[in-house]
Amino acid sequence: QIFMPLNFLGFVYREIRGSLTNIENLFALLEQQPAIVDKADAKELHVTKGEIVFENVGFAYHKDRQILENVNFVVKAGTKVAVVGESGAGKSTLVKLLFRFYDPTAGSIKIDGQDIAQYTQDSVRQHIGIVPQDTVLFNDTLYENIRYGRPDASEEEIQEAIKLAHLDAFVNLLPDKGDTQVGERGLKLSGGEKQRVSIARTILKRPPIMVFDEATSSLDSQSEQAILSALREIAKGYTSFMIAHRLSTIVDADIIIVMDKGQIAEQGSHSDLLNLNGIYTNLWQAQQKNTNTG
Ligand code: ADP
Ligand code: MG
Repeated sequence: QIFMPLNFLGFVYREIRGSLTNIENLFALLEQQPAIVDKADAKELHVTKGEIVFENVGFAYHKDRQILENVNFVVKAGTKVAVVGESGAGKSTLVKLLFRFYDPTAGSIKIDGQDIAQYTQDSVRQHIGIVPQDTVLFNDTLYENIRYGRPDASEEEIQEAIKLAHLDAFVNLLPDKGDTQVGERGLKLSGGEKQRVSIARTILKRPPIMVFDEATSSLDSQSEQAILSALREIAKGYTSFMIAHRLSTIVDADIIIVMDKGQIAEQGSHSDLLNLNGIYTNLWQAQQKNTNTG
């Protein structure tokens, strides 16, 4: 029974590859939800600065269960926002709305003043690079999986992305190096390796808005530190949206949004939030304790 979906994905992949549409559309298909449909008069979104505004955003996957309620925040162009909170608080859902996998059931999301619900899904996704919580690799070579970030990238640019994502040592150990087949029918990569492939893809794409959804959660803390510092370099001057489990990785964010049961409980800089002595402070202290006791 599993063969049909895999075949189907293979088909979709070839279709998408053929038309050079960007990779993230596939994630919409993987969601297996009724896809949202572009309005008949939908226009192309233009991103000049990369400012993001969530205005009274509400969302429910199913009518009887509200997931997000009254979410308001502004991410100024070129700044770094972090989203933290317990599992199930609605962090990944925020990102799915930004990416137009779904439209909000209340309120609006604006990128550079344009309400994304009025623009084509394709044009929204063109300007956003996402490293999702679970990366999907295609049955193709490692290089092709990375090239997907920007199909017209040169060999040098791909090598550079591999280096920045700290994948070079791994690639060098593969039987056919970057030409090794990966995915379900090839070499199976670990969670951390898949994350790094996804990071390399996004580095290659270099979109004005980058989203990292617990993108380094499967890495050991040494690789995590190395990759985070590379990402910091790459994201400089761009808008970035970082969902983090380990608070120590986002203390330098311009704003930290603390989600709790679908609502924003607190927002501010790391020191603002510590001064509040609320949810963030509790999370911070709990994690400090864990670090100290190993
Ligand atoms: P987080 O990323 O903070 O862990 P999520 O945004 O993934 O939280 O999930 C928020 C809530 O929405 C959870 O209760 C989760 O079970 C629910 N949820 C997530 N995805 C779906 C979906 N596709 N259909 C229905 N409910 C969902
Ligand atoms: Mg999540």
